[in-house]
Amino acid sequence: MDISLVIPVYNEEESLGPLMEWVARVMGEHGFSYEAIFVDDGSTDRSWEVVTRLRERYPEAVRGIRFRRNYGKSPALYCGFDAAQGEVVITMDADLQDSPDEIPELYRMITEEGYDLVSGWKRKRYDPIGKTWPSKFFNWTARRASGIRLHDFNCGLKAYRRKVVKSIEVYGEMHRFIPILAKQAGFRRIGEKAVQHRARQFGVSKFGWERMIKGYIDLLTVLFMTRFGRRPMYIFGGLGTVMFLVGLVITVWLIVEKLSLQGQGLPLRPVTDQPLFYIALLAVGLGVQTFLAGFLGEMVNRSAPERNRYLVDERF
Ligand code: UDP
Ligand code: MG
Repeated sequence: MDISLVIPVYNEEESLGPLMEWVARVMGEHGFSYEAIFVDDGSTDRSWEVVTRLRERYPEAVRGIRFRRNYGKSPALYCGFDAAQGEVVITMDADLQDSPDEIPELYRMITEEGYDLVSGWKRKRYDPIGKTWPSKFFNWTARRASGIRLHDFNCGLKAYRRKVVKSIEVYGEMHRFIPILAKQAGFRRIGEKAVQHRARQFGVSKFGWERMIKGYIDLLTVLFMTRFGRRPMYIFGGLGTVMFLVGLVITVWLIVEKLSLQGQGLPLRPVTDQPLFYIALLAVGLGVQTFLAGFLGEMVNRSAPERNRYLVDERF
């Protein structure tokens, strides 16, 4: 099979019919063999009914997965990836904002130009300004932090070589960081294609302003996990030791100073009057705590089932 489309659906009843018709037309024109996997993320409208009807109309192509409740876009993508059988896997939003006309070129970039992942870039974007501006800032940070030159990390339209989606695990709201996860998994050929974008015709956006906060927290998690996920002691142990040593040096200094003043019979300040004393106290306490956090992290890692899971590409 050439292409698996993975389409997360949450309350998009009006869009599904026109979307599938459009997809079928594009696929037919190019002679692709394909499947369209609709993952109904616990919709409360009639989306699932529509998917069932589409299945009757396109029995060869349409597949459906229905969650019992709403879990989020990342879980929907995860299950779609798990089910996908095509050589190239393409994700696409269900709301008709992404255009199926982009499919052939995305497919070509993966199969002929050798990309592992091609991300869409909504160069001209039809969303309210309250969404586009924070998004620019977010993308800038993600670009700087990850070293991946993409303009639009969160674009719903993306294409992957099959083994990419089988090697990464998206959860929570990690769909925004799939390119980073792919890079971590060792897929270096990440490309970008400017894609058409359209205003939402039906229904409403499923993400509100909280997306900014969650997006940033997730970005920190992803970056932290990349660098120190496997060896938390490298950061916590290191920092903790430095802090502890600083505290120790100050403490020794305070003692030496006090003894020498005493020996010379000069006037003494009690330690509790000296700022350095409190700094030393804090540094020693925090140092030990930080070190312990790293140590606990290592213990957790030791019993993590994936501690020795490596991605092997080929072997003899
Ligand atoms: N979506 C989903 N589960 C959710 C939220 C959204 O499957 O909990 C789907 C939604 O149906 C759509 C896609 O994810 O197909 C993108 O959502 P939306 O269009 O609301 O996001 P926006 O375009 O505003 O970024
Ligand atoms: Mg949308």
